[in-house]
Amino acid sequence: MTAQIIDGRAVAAALRENVAARASALPYRPGLAVVLVGDDPASRVYVRNKDKAALQVGLHARTIALPADTTEAALLALIKNLNDDPQTDGILVQLPLPAHIRSDIVLRAIDPAKDVDGFHPDNVAALALGEPGLVPCTPRGILRLLEHAQIPLRGAKALVIGRSNIVGKPVAALLVAQNATVTIAHSATRDLAGECRRAEIVIAAVGRAEMVRGDWIAPGATLIDVGINRTDAGTLVGDIAYAEALPIAGAITPVPGGVGPMTIACLLENTLTAAIARRH
Ligand code: NAP
Repeated sequence: MTAQIIDGRAVAAALRENVAARASALPYRPGLAVVLVGDDPASRVYVRNKDKAALQVGLHARTIALPADTTEAALLALIKNLNDDPQTDGILVQLPLPAHIRSDIVLRAIDPAKDVDGFHPDNVAALALGEPGLVPCTPRGILRLLEHAQIPLRGAKALVIGRSNIVGKPVAALLVAQNATVTIAHSATRDLAGECRRAEIVIAAVGRAEMVRGDWIAPGATLIDVGINRTDAGTLVGDIAYAEALPIAGAITPVPGGVGPMTIACLLENTLTAAIARRH
């Protein structure tokens, strides 16, 4: 038996259509401001894709590109302007920032009501407390994929590999909120293979090519692969050895075409949510 392949592109396309339909019914255009500091090539591509996707669903998107030597004070002043701008509903500062700028200070400066990445401590606290708030895009996308694939979460044993603030911790909080029994693994975890074999759901968010091997996987398990790793041959692979996992797992996300497309779609949804919450 081969695993059900969870098609992130299709789920993301449906979500984008839903956002477009809801946005078109509003008497205003929700506005997203994406701030890019420096000239990191990968960040440029991400920002361009976010901008394009936002325009396609009818949001008002603009990218503010600043030089790499922008001071922290200048960036904070820009964020204050965006916080005060009534037409701006969502603010996203593309990470990583240049080393001379403190990311934590910058993320704290964003109005939590416009924090469409969900990284402001107020939104992090809301997620931990189970209160309404803006939820980080990749974790939210992962939960939507699980929902789409009709994976039961209540009581399920879930393993999250990775404890970053961007993916691992928030996805674990979302799974707990859905009554899963969650283990979080990281670089100090002993017997990661054993933890994996005991899990019905594995979320791999590490950034190590094909680290999770086929013989680590319980038959029928659901595998969500967040990792994006470029091989020497120039192809993209995830954190899970896909070909090995396919005949064993019950469901699996491919890389590319799994979690990745959901991240941007959830950013658009967060912008719409922020606009409606602020303007109504
Ligand atoms: P990160 O901040 O580098 O965190 C990686 C995590 O993996 C850390 O918690 C680290 O543990 C853990 N780890 C490292 N080696 C390990 C090992 N041998 N065994 C178990 N755990 C180990 O990365 P991230 O930002 O969460 O991203 C993870 C991956 O997802 C990357 O490939 C990234 O490109 C990708 N990503 C994809 C999307 C998307 O939209 N598809 C979005 C975000 C990220 P310690 O905490 O102990 O160091």
